[in-house]
Amino acid sequence: MKIVVLKFGGTSVGTIEKIKKVASIIGNYRKKNYKVIVVSSAMRGVTNDLIKKSRQISKNFSESEYDVLVSSGEQVACSLIAGRLKYNGFKSRSWLGWQIPILTQGPHKNSRINQINKNKIISYLKEGGIPIITGFQGMNNDQRITTIGRGGSDASAIMLAKFFKAQRCVIYTDVEGVYTTDPNKFNKAKKIKVISYEEMLEMASLGAKVMQPVSIQDARLNRIDIEVKSSFIKKSGTLITKKSNIINSKIVTGITSTYNDSKVTLVGVKDKPGVAASIFKPLSTNSINVDMVVQNISANGKETDLTFTIKTEDLNKTKKIIIENKRIKFRKLLFDKRVSKISIIGVGMITTPGVTFRMFQALANKKINIQVISTSEIKISVLVDKKDTKKALIVLHKEFKLNK
Ligand code: ASP
Ligand code: MG
Repeated sequence: MKIVVLKFGGTSVGTIEKIKKVASIIGNYRKKNYKVIVVSSAMRGVTNDLIKKSRQISKNFSESEYDVLVSSGEQVACSLIAGRLKYNGFKSRSWLGWQIPILTQGPHKNSRINQINKNKIISYLKEGGIPIITGFQGMNNDQRITTIGRGGSDASAIMLAKFFKAQRCVIYTDVEGVYTTDPNKFNKAKKIKVISYEEMLEMASLGAKVMQPVSIQDARLNRIDIEVKSSFIKKSGTLITKKSNIINSKIVTGITSTYNDSKVTLVGVKDKPGVAASIFKPLSTNSINVDMVVQNISANGKETDLTFTIKTEDLNKTKKIIIENKRIKFRKLLFDKRVSKISIIGVGMITTPGVTFRMFQALANKKINIQVISTSEIKISVLVDKKDTKKALIVLHKEFKLNK
């Protein structure tokens, strides 16, 4: 069976007019004799509204009821799509996660799909039907409705593609694909034709918003090719695939920036074994993710400065934990929200020497000060003053010839 999975995001089904457009895209695949499985997200803004309602009821709204509530947006979108397809003369119906069922494990609000029962959908496809399946939701072993994290319908699509051995998984969205850098920040950003899972995973985790990072990891593990493209403009998008499928001469594939990082500095920390551990342990037990870390060598052998970054939303909690921890001694505690993490990403870096130098030199030429550095095999990140974000993106875009 020639199966394709088509996933539509919130903006793509954001209005009735757009849903009609989506139905015609789906119809065209069906006419080309594909067996089409559709996954939809909720109409734009709906999930946020539902979350708001839960907060108005109670500050600690029950997590199992949260899942029932917020998953309802997908039900609405799917029924509208199926309704329109029927109007257009196709056989179609909506399927909720529990009706298939799509089984999940893990906690409410943050489950993972671990099994999908294929029987009902396969027979429906054989009858020529187009199933419209709710993204984002599933059912656990206790037969309760679950959700799989914000932006989770990407992961629903990838898992459906995996279980049904789809030939293709197309993520329809409001942009034309994945860009070398955020086109809203820099208008010379170019659409990337092909990108590896590894690079895409870094880009998504480091600030590119096109796809949810978990879903890319799922796609990588299961070797599922993903095409990201626009629902509104008929143009080829970006293919996300395995490294060996890519012939690429570029060293850097993409550049990202973040807007929600904060820097924490402990000045004058006692320089002795176990200090870093005593600072970071309570942060990790409180699920605060520490990202970049630098520790200066101490000038006098007794004291050192320790700097690290966290998400800005964790700032207050972090302050409290450090101040209340009597085991940590320091002279001053500094916080800075006006920072941005700029990263260059590319598998080409593995084999090319001198990339770090070129990045630093290009930033220095524009008098952009680097505050913290972190690297992995395929990315280099630097922390800079937030006001330098755009300047940094532009100069690096040019340095690594992404305009071409
Ligand atoms: N509607 C859900 C959300 O906003 C799932 C998704 O859009 O992928 O998080
Ligand atoms: Mg999304």
